[in-house]
Amino acid sequence: MSNFNWLNEYQITSAVPHLDFPKLGNPMNMAVTVALTQMENSQWWEAEKIESAQFAQLFQLVRHAVKTVPFYKDFPIPKSARELQKLWQSLPILERGHIVGAGDGLLSKASPKSHGKINTQYTSGSTGQPIAVHNTQLSRVFWRAFTTRDHIWHHRDPAWKLGHIRIAKSGQAEYPGTVGKGWGSLKGTNALIETGPIAGLNINARVEEQAEWLIRNEPDFLITYPSVVQRLAEHCLTQGIRPSNLKQIETISEVLTDKVRHLVDRAFGVKVVDLYSTRELGYLGLQCPENNHYHIQSEGVYLEVVDEEGCACPVGVPGKIVVTPLHNFAMPLIRYAVGDYGVLGEACSCGRGLPVLKTILGRERNRLRQPDGQYRWIALSAKAYGKMLAIAPVREYQIVQVSLNELILNVALDVDLSDQQSQELSLWAQKSLPFSGVVTVVPHKELKRSSNGKLELFQSLIE
Ligand SMILES: [Zn+2]
Repeated sequence: MSNFNWLNEYQITSAVPHLDFPKLGNPMNMAVTVALTQMENSQWWEAEKIESAQFAQLFQLVRHAVKTVPFYKDFPIPKSARELQKLWQSLPILERGHIVGAGDGLLSKASPKSHGKINTQYTSGSTGQPIAVHNTQLSRVFWRAFTTRDHIWHHRDPAWKLGHIRIAKSGQAEYPGTVGKGWGSLKGTNALIETGPIAGLNINARVEEQAEWLIRNEPDFLITYPSVVQRLAEHCLTQGIRPSNLKQIETISEVLTDKVRHLVDRAFGVKVVDLYSTRELGYLGLQCPENNHYHIQSEGVYLEVVDEEGCACPVGVPGKIVVTPLHNFAMPLIRYAVGDYGVLGEACSCGRGLPVLKTILGRERNRLRQPDGQYRWIALSAKAYGKMLAIAPVREYQIVQVSLNELILNVALDVDLSDQQSQELSLWAQKSLPFSGVVTVVPHKELKRSSNGKLELFQSLIE
């Protein structure tokens, strides 16, 4: 186990010429460092103190939203953080459909200039409604602070070699994979600190190729999906393959089960760390350094688990995960239902005051099986959504795999679909997914939700 201190000033990338001790980074990295320094303390605060600091921030956010965002114009204007805390649960839940319906009505007419440039994140989540969320540079600052917190919590040495089996467009990072310097996208003096080499592989590589890549690259640390690591671990166990350098695996995007944790332990003998984040909201939960549950990242989001009436579920009772990002003043999302279900836990034995999310339910990645039996992951780009909307004004869509050779594309529209549009949508699906079998397009007025109210983007009826 490495005892590397990530906040040690010697490791910060120096961005100021002639400055070697102490080093100073660029303004963005200084902002990340300042956020992180405060978060190093706030994680240990009592739960009540954390919540009241959150409401001080939410008070700022809600007042800004009521005054500058058309969608919230009829919300009550709280007079104090305490008053906001009292009325909080009476505020309505924001569903994905509301975001689609509100259009620009959710954008602030006066996003604070000091929060930086506005970016747009496109997301499909696990539901079939593509949405665009605007946020500012502040989201980037906090994203990077939480990424670093995750490294600190799980004792990762920045000199480690990172292996990444990831979603990538076809043609990118295809087997035999790519190699490079530095873990993140920021290099040189733009990086917060110097990190080791990286090896990347497209998630659609065959399991035999993944195993060969793993042995050839010998990463210290692997990031991928639970279902990928499950197949890889099974394959390595049956083939007697065991990487010699691997120290830790981090899983993202799907539910990580105890079964997979045990399997990885048997196959590789290393710790598995899971994380819960979404592109539009940032980090929601990081795995506790000492337990297999998650700590809510309360410095970035106010996360609730609620029942159908929007009231808090007690510890241990499953409910809808509702999130309010604390720092998005460009497009404030107040009590946004992310589409996942979860269960809160008791206060953690590690001593951190950050609330515990014991389980995350219903987080599934979209896995499509090709006629040749190989799995592929559906990763539709914003561009692909654009192409679909250019063919027909699709409100919602859902893909159902009925057999190895056939998919049904359910689409919800307010207008009738012509034969030509239907054919074009079928071709669009074959090309964008991509899928080599038949795609049958079925138009609807409304799509059926599953029993938990969620619209699954992808359903497989085959196993
Ligand atoms: Zn803990």
